[in-house]
Amino acid sequence: MTTPTTGIRTLIVAGGGTAGWMTAAALAANMLPRTTLSVTLVESETIGTIGVGESTLPSFVRFHLGLLGLDEGDFMRSIGATFKLGIRFEDWVRPGHAYFHPFYKKPDPNPIPFHHLWLHGLALGERTPFDTYSPEATAAGMGTFEKSTLSHAYQIDAIAYAAYMRKYAEARGVRRIEGKIERADLDGHEGTIKALILADGRRIEGDFFIDCTGFRGILIEQALKAGYEDWSHFLPCDRAVAVPAAQPSVPGPFTRAIARPHGWQWKIPLQHRSGNGYVYCSALCSDDEAASVLLGNLDGEPLAQPLRLRFSVGRRRLFWKKNCIAIGLSAGFLEPLEATGIALIQMGVYKFLQYFPNSPINPAQEDAFNREMESRYQEARDLLVFHYLANERRDSAFWRDCRERELPESLRQRIELFRSCGHLAIDRDAIFAPDSWAHVMLGQELIPAHYHPFIATYGIEENARLLWMLPKRREAIRKATEKMPAHGAFLARVCSGRSD
Ligand code: FAD
Repeated sequence: MTTPTTGIRTLIVAGGGTAGWMTAAALAANMLPRTTLSVTLVESETIGTIGVGESTLPSFVRFHLGLLGLDEGDFMRSIGATFKLGIRFEDWVRPGHAYFHPFYKKPDPNPIPFHHLWLHGLALGERTPFDTYSPEATAAGMGTFEKSTLSHAYQIDAIAYAAYMRKYAEARGVRRIEGKIERADLDGHEGTIKALILADGRRIEGDFFIDCTGFRGILIEQALKAGYEDWSHFLPCDRAVAVPAAQPSVPGPFTRAIARPHGWQWKIPLQHRSGNGYVYCSALCSDDEAASVLLGNLDGEPLAQPLRLRFSVGRRRLFWKKNCIAIGLSAGFLEPLEATGIALIQMGVYKFLQYFPNSPINPAQEDAFNREMESRYQEARDLLVFHYLANERRDSAFWRDCRERELPESLRQRIELFRSCGHLAIDRDAIFAPDSWAHVMLGQELIPAHYHPFIATYGIEENARLLWMLPKRREAIRKATEKMPAHGAFLARVCSGRSD
């Protein structure tokens, strides 16, 4: 067996938004100390970043505290972060309805998931909502928090976060070049990228390139023509308007997603302000109407002019092509719902580190990366589509249209399986694990016709035990979360460096 050698010596990251600096930071933490690899990031301040993306998933905490080894207090203080226990979905099923999609601690070792017990309880007349059995949802409702027992993510200031990541990566040897990328210079024979050509004529050569140039996809699309699979027939929204606002009270540890006539509004509490946005369908709602709906539904004074954003939902057909990998918006975008953007960036970074290329590049490795990323995008897309589909709203053409839209075949099968017998066949590495799907499907009132036969055939004694156990379980969760500190107090303690 020969000694393995990567052959990749010079790695160029094109773009310095959330995706570019997260990739650079992960490389700085993992590869630079142990290899002769050099990492250069090229970005243009005049083009700037998208600057939104403030709600995250629990993998975000693992990435920063685990992979990068950050000090939590310093990190959260520097980026104005708050803790997040999940998302409260308001008015999605119908006006006045709400449910909580919580994060969950660990996969349940029981082969029969808890939601089957809940379904049997429901059949026996125990009608308490499914989310009342989640410690995260209960603590969110009470405004309390404690990090050792509750699964959590952060809500972050995106601009402060990018600056923090840049400082981290540069301090560990990543070189930054300021400049506008004009184009990529391709090898005429192989079709690989040889160098980036900047507007001022500079030429930045590399062995391997990461495209983090955002929606433009300067390398993966403009140069390598990887192709884009458009998903706008599945997901109805294509625009957003965003604005930061003053925050009148101590923030709760969760994001709010509120259905509106032509889309939905996010409210993300940070330490020093809130992030707000309205995601909508431009065919049914003008930009001015969207801005006025957003500004009319803020909890505090707006702190800037509303920022308008257009997007096209879908994914790159190939995430890895030749000697280039796309990470971030250049790889694809679903929409802001459920905060999948940064989680998919992390997935791309992890998979890139895992499949780090050899020279010459192994096509089997490239295929495996592409297949894995395709699955992650597709599974996440399906959960988002389900949110729009399972509604009973009668107030606008938008919501009627959402019920009648074409469904991805993969989602149709998931719904069929759950509806018929309460099962969830979800990949272990999926962005949203089975517990998440159960919370969203039951939260949006998709009640299976049947559930696990072991439970459905309980006798009188087992039924009585279940009807005794369910309220006990709720009560134990309520008591435990009641004793936890208020979120604001816990946050202050972590940010002051006393996170015991
Ligand atoms: P960008 O931020 O666009 O960065 C692109 C970089 O490339 C910039 O540095 C730019 O200067 C550089 N660049 C581009 N062209 C050139 C050039 N020619 N020369 C040199 N440099 C160039 N995700 C979440 O996880 N949670 C959320 O709550 C969330 N909310 C969102 C809300 C909205 C409305 C949108 C649109 C997205 C949201 N996302 C969210 C997604 C998230 O914002 C992105 O995934 C994240 O910001 C990554 O962006 P990026 O780095 O890929 O692109």
